[in-house]
Amino acid sequence: MTLELREVSKHYDGAGEAVAAVDRVSLTVAPGEFVALYGPSGSGKTTLLMLAAAIMTPDAGSVLFDGLEVSSLTASESARYRRERTGVVFQSFHLTGASALENAAVKLLALGMTLGEAQNAARPWLERVGLGERIEHTPAQMSMGERQRVAIARALANDPDLLLADEPTGNLDSKRSREILELLAEICRERQVPVLLVTHDPQATSFVDRVYTLRDGKLTEGLALDLHASIAQ
Ligand code: ADP
Ligand code: MG
Repeated sequence: MTLELREVSKHYDGAGEAVAAVDRVSLTVAPGEFVALYGPSGSGKTTLLMLAAAIMTPDAGSVLFDGLEVSSLTASESARYRRERTGVVFQSFHLTGASALENAAVKLLALGMTLGEAQNAARPWLERVGLGERIEHTPAQMSMGERQRVAIARALANDPDLLLADEPTGNLDSKRSREILELLAEICRERQVPVLLVTHDPQATSFVDRVYTLRDGKLTEGLALDLHASIAQ
């Protein structure tokens, strides 16, 4: 279960010239490996994650997961890949107006569980992110940090083979952030899944195996010095 991006590029047709959001990126995340991706706003981090999640297809290059060429699947095959293999924590959460429990359980319904089964499976994940007392609350009744934790529980609830998290601690205080980073690291080790974390959180460097920096769509290994200074504040 290795995630592999080979010379992947993606551009958006802007008003003027085309923007290369991701520019010939090659990256391998092995099973049980926890990788952090830093980069300034607009550097292509979300786009890269969406390519790995088969939510977008690259203009060039290929995305492979566990021997499957994710970047050339049909629409229904890629929907199945997303549903069955991946757990994605979206930067903007993408929660519905329903309760935390229903939000966390929704993917399990799509996998064929009954409502009761799905809720029983999702509940422990809400407890694990510290929302055990809040399962009946809707996102409108929650803080941003709580919503973020619902999104994390939902991403984990289907026991994904690949975990992709887009700034999952962006709305959390440093104690909660550390708990979530610990949880992601634990899942990574226990289940031997590759985890790709997009983050600005300086704490993350002490949890991950490798760090990359994305800048203008180009990937380099390590944390660029100027970014190090800006995240260390
Ligand atoms: P990050 O997550 O690092 O902030 P993004 O992947 O969201 O970066 O964006 C990378 C670049 O692509 C930015 O210049 C952004 O403005 C542009 N971009 C992102 N999404 C779109 C879109 N849907 N249409 C046009 N340009 C986009
Ligand atoms: Mg982003």
